[in-house]
Amino acid sequence: MIIGAGASGIGAAVKLLGQGVRDFVVLEKADGVGGTWRANTYPGCACDVPSALYSFSFAPNPAWTRAFAGQPEILDYLRDVATRYGVTPHVRFGTELTRAQWDDTARRWVLETTRGRFTARLVIAGAGPWNEPLIPDLPGLLDFPGEVFHSAWWNHDYDLRGKRVAVVGSGASAVQFVPRIQPHVASLHLFQRTAQWVLPKPDHHVPRVERYLLRRFPALQRALRSAEYLGMEALGVGFRHPAVLRAVQAVGRAHLLATVRDPALRRALTPDYTLGCKRLLFSNEYYPALTRPNVRVHPHAVRSVEGSTVVGTDGSRSEVDCVILGTGFRILDMPVAERVFDADGRSLADHWRGSPSAYLGTTVSGFPNAFLLLGPNLGTGHSSAFMILEAQLAYVMDAVRTIRAAGWSSVDVRPEVQAAYDAEVQAALPSTVYNAGGCSSYYLDVNGRNSFSWPWSTGRMRERIRVFDPAAYTVRAESDHSDRPLGDRA
Ligand SMILES: Cc1cc2nc3c(=O)[nH]c(=O)nc-3n(C[C@H](O)[C@H](O)[C@H](O)COP(=O)(O)OP(=O)(O)OC[C@H]3O[C@@H](n4cnc5c(N)ncnc54)[C@H](O)[C@@H]3O)c2cc1C
Repeated sequence: MIIGAGASGIGAAVKLLGQGVRDFVVLEKADGVGGTWRANTYPGCACDVPSALYSFSFAPNPAWTRAFAGQPEILDYLRDVATRYGVTPHVRFGTELTRAQWDDTARRWVLETTRGRFTARLVIAGAGPWNEPLIPDLPGLLDFPGEVFHSAWWNHDYDLRGKRVAVVGSGASAVQFVPRIQPHVASLHLFQRTAQWVLPKPDHHVPRVERYLLRRFPALQRALRSAEYLGMEALGVGFRHPAVLRAVQAVGRAHLLATVRDPALRRALTPDYTLGCKRLLFSNEYYPALTRPNVRVHPHAVRSVEGSTVVGTDGSRSEVDCVILGTGFRILDMPVAERVFDADGRSLADHWRGSPSAYLGTTVSGFPNAFLLLGPNLGTGHSSAFMILEAQLAYVMDAVRTIRAAGWSSVDVRPEVQAAYDAEVQAALPSTVYNAGGCSSYYLDVNGRNSFSWPWSTGRMRERIRVFDPAAYTVRAESDHSDRPLGDRA
């Protein structure tokens, strides 16, 4: 069973089919594939890593029309991969997983969905850390008489022209949609809790001749991907050695200086933490949009909403017609963790108690035969999710192969292995910019622990996660119903 038909679920399905496994189903609560790129349709939505890197290595796309593709193209790409590789017939659309529990007697997962019950030997969860919008608990928001929506649920039926708009948040989504709506609205109040590092985006139209050459000479496309990978990895070195980032910060400052003349506005937009501590943003249009006369930047959070007035923590009061929440996602408290239970009925969320952890970001002790894609502590601040995903898929597919070939009924990561791995990751994080950069970010969980970031290079991730390692697991054979697992006897 695969949960989710975003990039993760599609990638897992392609790999299963590639090794001849056909008896699987993909549960998808939405009515189409694409995940993030189906849900997010806000103006300006695009990826912020180069497209050659934001795609599967087994399905390169020479047709990207921009160096950083927009949402419609990425969605088309994912739909195309799902169709071309025969994934779509395996997807049960409109089918939401409501509860999954491991049955230790049957050695099966029992999955309750909005369309009935399934059982599965193995579960691959690709429910997506950026799937569930984070709605801030702002006093008075529910009584706001105008229009309110989150950037991930953009209301295209609402005409923003001539409206007074409050934007709450200044993260990756807001940086993309603010410049697109600014020319059309009467006024735009941007509530910015924390200033962001925004670097110029080396985006450009890809000329037809370049696309032809990429299609004609696939080696060229591979070379481009490798070059972009190395460029992003160079940035990653800085994230692990923050002193190196000073030069990149100078680029950020110069970008701000060149685009914002007003010293007071520049001050408000200058971050007070090291670049890379939060997800790095790229835009050529964001700063110029903020200098327009119809924009006011409030360098504060929102305290409350009173009728149609948005009140800042500095006491500022702005009357608006519409509130757009650019407040991000429930990344480290993914709702799906509340729906997945061990054999004793304890949920994954209960196990984690606010601090997600998984062996190699993939398996959790007590949850046999289940693999999380884009799981805890695999995030990077610079690279493409596809890099992480493909590293994990190599591991998960090797596990599937091994389990089937050996006829094992369950593999459950040993708690001490998971704990030792977790300790190793946590010991490496304090010197990275994610922890030492002096900011509060979504990389940190409710307990203040970094449960998001991978502290090393993505090359090391690929190396570490390449091969399934049964010795780390308690393994049981299909015929073995004794209490003593095989792995323990070995
Ligand atoms: C606006 C935006 C821009 C981004 N840009 C980048 C970028 O430039 N670079 C980058 O590396 N990453 C980026 N990301 C992160 C992005 O989410 C990942 O790159 C990637 O798309 C995640 O794929 P996924 O399949 O793991 O998750 P998703 O794409 O979120 O897919 C998860 C799927 O699971 C389904 N699902 C969830 N719960 C259930 C359930 N209970 N039952 C059934 N189905 C369920 C969902 O409907 C969804 O279709 C961005 C994220 C957002 C929101």
